[in-house]
Amino acid sequence: MKATTVECTPRSVRWDENSPTVKAMSDDINYNKAFDLVPGSAADVAPGVRAIVANNPGPFTFKGTVSYIVGRGKVAIVDPGPDDDKHIAALLDAVRGETVTDIFVTHTHRDHSPAVSKVKAATGARVYAQGPHRLARPLHTGEAARLDASADLDFRPDTALTDGDAVTRDGWTIEALATPGHTANHMAYALKEAELIFSGDHVMAWSTPIVAPPDGAMSDYMASLEKLARRSEPVYLPGHGGPVRDAPRFVQSYIRHRRGREASILRRLEKGAADITTLVRAIYIGLDQRLVGAASLSVLAHLEDLVARDLVATDGTPSISGTYRLAEPLPAA
Ligand SMILES: [Zn+2]
Repeated sequence: MKATTVECTPRSVRWDENSPTVKAMSDDINYNKAFDLVPGSAADVAPGVRAIVANNPGPFTFKGTVSYIVGRGKVAIVDPGPDDDKHIAALLDAVRGETVTDIFVTHTHRDHSPAVSKVKAATGARVYAQGPHRLARPLHTGEAARLDASADLDFRPDTALTDGDAVTRDGWTIEALATPGHTANHMAYALKEAELIFSGDHVMAWSTPIVAPPDGAMSDYMASLEKLARRSEPVYLPGHGGPVRDAPRFVQSYIRHRRGREASILRRLEKGAADITTLVRAIYIGLDQRLVGAASLSVLAHLEDLVARDLVATDGTPSISGTYRLAEPLPAA
């Protein structure tokens, strides 16, 4: 069985079947893995939106990073993608004869932002993002190496956006939606005219994203999902994979999925204290060995959130090597 996702899908990883809560919730994400784009050329994916996929497929990137071109004539690019010369050439080829006025970046992982400097150099476009890469919390010992591998620490926007900021040009308006969680600086972008959201890695049709400390924070991630669930745009165009349809309902299923994961962690802790290795083994049954590290970080993200909410206790700061137990209930007043 080939597991291609980090967060489990019903097909790649089975849940703890002994958990009634999880059983009720485990199959509730209606994933869609359909994807038609091929690297090298742009295709229309929504009114006024073209897309090009980079040739960087993988367990975290699915078929590759999708870059979007918004408008005609004076255009914006959302997520230029990895520092891949072929992808950058295809992107510039697709906008030949047009003016790239603006570049929007959803977040500063290496599969989304490193192409910015070359695309900016070629076009003179202004670059927008929430800000440089930053952590959801301070680093623990041993976390620096992983950060170097995944984050684009060189990226700087020309203009830092805050939630609700909007940029309007000929024929399009893009509004910034702060959606921290996958990274602290994650932004989604609403395209007003097409009633859609560029959702980056926050919400994707093919899988849930990894929420891994120190880049990611589960409490932020859940709050960002709740925020999108209150919006009405029916379609999301994500950083990987095809469009999300019926998006508000899909976001609700994402929320239930995470709550199901949280419930299964709490149920295992009801049986006694456990470390993360034990929790991963109990929750992700039949997990591909290559994904154990990512699953462990995802469980750590949940535990950080549960400790912050006083539902779980550990000694000192929550860490990957810590032991976790249910928090003592407060004595009745
Ligand atoms: Zn990504």
